[in-house]
Amino acid sequence: MTLDTTTMDPRAAHSAAPARPKKSIQHFKRPVERPFTRDQRPYTTVLFGGLTWSHERLIKGAWEGLGYKCDVVPTPDVKAFQLGKEYGNNGQCNPTYFTVGNLVQYLQGLEKNGLSRKEIADNYVFITAGACGPCRFGMYEAEYRLALRNSGFEDFRVILFQQSKGLSQEDVNAGPEMNLDFFLAMLNSMNMGDMLNEIGYLVRPYETEPGRINQVLDEARESLANALKSERHSSMGDRVEKILRSAKLYNKADYTVKFARQLTTSYYTDALEKIRDQIADIEVDRFRVKPVVKITGEFWAQTTDGDGNYNMFPFLEREGAEVIVEPIGTWIMYMIHQFKQKLRDRKGIEEGGTMPSWTREPVRRAKVEATFRKRIARMNIAEKIFSREYTKLQHALGAGVLHELVCQYELQRMGHPYYNSRAAGGEGHLEVAKNIYYSSKGIAHMVISLKPFGCMPSTQSDGAQAAVTEHYKDMIYLPIETSGEGEINAHSRVQMALGNARIKAKQEFAECLSKTGRTLDELKAYVNEHPEMKKALYLVPKRDDVIGKAANFVLHVAERMEKEGVAHTPKAAAAA
Ligand code: SF4
Repeated sequence: MTLDTTTMDPRAAHSAAPARPKKSIQHFKRPVERPFTRDQRPYTTVLFGGLTWSHERLIKGAWEGLGYKCDVVPTPDVKAFQLGKEYGNNGQCNPTYFTVGNLVQYLQGLEKNGLSRKEIADNYVFITAGACGPCRFGMYEAEYRLALRNSGFEDFRVILFQQSKGLSQEDVNAGPEMNLDFFLAMLNSMNMGDMLNEIGYLVRPYETEPGRINQVLDEARESLANALKSERHSSMGDRVEKILRSAKLYNKADYTVKFARQLTTSYYTDALEKIRDQIADIEVDRFRVKPVVKITGEFWAQTTDGDGNYNMFPFLEREGAEVIVEPIGTWIMYMIHQFKQKLRDRKGIEEGGTMPSWTREPVRRAKVEATFRKRIARMNIAEKIFSREYTKLQHALGAGVLHELVCQYELQRMGHPYYNSRAAGGEGHLEVAKNIYYSSKGIAHMVISLKPFGCMPSTQSDGAQAAVTEHYKDMIYLPIETSGEGEINAHSRVQMALGNARIKAKQEFAECLSKTGRTLDELKAYVNEHPEMKKALYLVPKRDDVIGKAANFVLHVAERMEKEGVAHTPKAAAAA
């Protein structure tokens, strides 16, 4: 941008100095993107990525079911990170480098395989989430464009769908039709991706035949992706559609039919129930004492399963931990919750307006109240529907097997005293709140927060966590900055903290075992006689004050033995 010299000191005009030539102001203009139109759909491959493999595989299936050709950009690695640094701006947060570089790397791969840059630009588009906001997420789109230009793919198209715009991003001629079918398909695929991931992390540390759950999940991913691909999206037929359109009732009727179908169909629960039967067959050993580690942090860093977070999840499992990963469902509930909070805060004062008073402007005030109530009611319904659908899918894998979605109001209540819940951007107050929630509710022995290098909101919450750890003395909390390099250093810090979590888990187990008044051999012998207790989906009640799976299990086995009147062995009886 150049300076407008005409706005400078007017005395300059009367000075003896020669007049400078006038320069016109050149504002920055966003480059015009070549559109991706509906007629290009049959030959255009839509690329996307940035989540876990389960989510991505299912989203691919959902998109194919909606009639798109699509492909997944693989999980970013260190090479992608380096490309992001090479072609992008300096001073970005770590996920920007990884994701932007990853796209460049993928396109370079296509080129190596023989496609020209023009063919790539004409036959591929990349779709990604966008948002405006205080953190760098709002800059991703610009970063993609810059890196693409610098790497020679300036004609390549990046399409954004705005997280905050809800269901109304339709454009009749647009290539990606972001209508209700699209959002429901995304929702179903992301929810089922959450379930597959979680069940894997629950079973893997305890399975007696290593690799068995991964094998089942590989097949499950394919069968669910096929279910999503072959789902028949409801349509009213051309004639009915025409009549409803002429009566201007089409949109409402279409929404109602689709929502009703989503709420009543058992299409996906049936598919999940088949998977449940396979998982239920897997044998596990719940006597293995393992520290439970909850992962929190920035959205991308806590989600990706690759170099972006130093391959933290497999590392923790190799080190003998049980990992609780974060479902994307929490993020969706968080966005609804934040939106409601914004509605409340801005009631009647949007766009610089002032709140009309009941006495002087009763009609205007009544209108404000009515609009506010309508909006809040819509959000309440969205919240209820989402959590109902989520729970419905969870229960298809077995009621009580997976963790419930954490209540956003409780998270707000816990986190707000340390991190203002109105401070938006990134994970906002969630990082702090989840640390308190999982540590104080007896769910995890240790919390690891994965924080990308250069992440603004995460850096802020780091400051707040100092106060949190001061107040919750027993908590084992470890922030890990993920910078793309320094994996060995990060792993060794995790190993040290994990040592403490392991001690905590072992102590807890020893206390619970001694409470039972039985020996471990006695309990094991009972379980051997009751093979249903060795099955992966056998429900072990979780006590509020007991964290570890093995500790809860010994209490449960002993309780069953008491109920059945199984006699104590003489040695155990003497010890009791
Ligand atoms: S939350 Fe942090 S890491 Fe994520 S986009 Fe924003 S600034 Fe970057």
